[in-house]
Amino acid sequence: SDFEMMGLPAKLVERLKKMGFEDPTPIQKQAIPHALNGRDVMGLAQTGTGKTAAFGLPLVTRILEFGRKPENFTVRGLVLAPTRELAGQIADNLRAMTEGTPLKVGMVVGGQSINTQINRLERGTDLLVATPGRLLDLLDRRALTLDSCSFLVLDEADQMLDLGFIHALRKIAAMLPAERQTMLFSATMPKQMNEIANSYLNRPIRIEV
Ligand code: AMP
Repeated sequence: SDFEMMGLPAKLVERLKKMGFEDPTPIQKQAIPHALNGRDVMGLAQTGTGKTAAFGLPLVTRILEFGRKPENFTVRGLVLAPTRELAGQIADNLRAMTEGTPLKVGMVVGGQSINTQINRLERGTDLLVATPGRLLDLLDRRALTLDSCSFLVLDEADQMLDLGFIHALRKIAAMLPAERQTMLFSATMPKQMNEIANSYLNRPIRIEV
């Protein structure tokens, strides 16, 4: 299939088939090969275009390739989303993609017990989906570390700016290693987004669907 030709592992392609994903959407076609090569990605795309899998599939593939670090408190890949609802959808998608692998997908969002989230993080999370406010709270409490988090995704980045998360974003990004892969997706490109893109992305491939 096209997914396999892009370099995704056969097992993952099988799982995709079971999810009803036979052919990549345009954004997936454009983003996945570059993201698998480690390139930063800047995607201008609306919801419904398949952007979750566009970043999720390379993310899952690369984290599996790098081998799993079993330490507690550490996170390997971080996806930031503006709302609980979106975070929940992303986490569901990532769980479906990682079914049958040892990767653990976690989610931390506001409005839920922080102690439960702390306990889960303690047991180890490979891929964490978070809203910025709650994540910052957990980082302040040292419930996790982003020292070895080599992948960062900013989803619906324009919404995160609109909701006033810029300060949280800056603080969080500063805690990740400089050497990492970053992917940013946004439905619109306000002026402030260029600033964000310039500070957090390294020679990104630009995609528009
Ligand atoms: P998203 O834009 O990521 O929210 O995806 C929109 C919807 O399309 C979701 O229900 C996905 O499960 C579905 N989807 C994403 N990629 C594919 C694909 N390659 N084939 C079929 N469905 C897909």
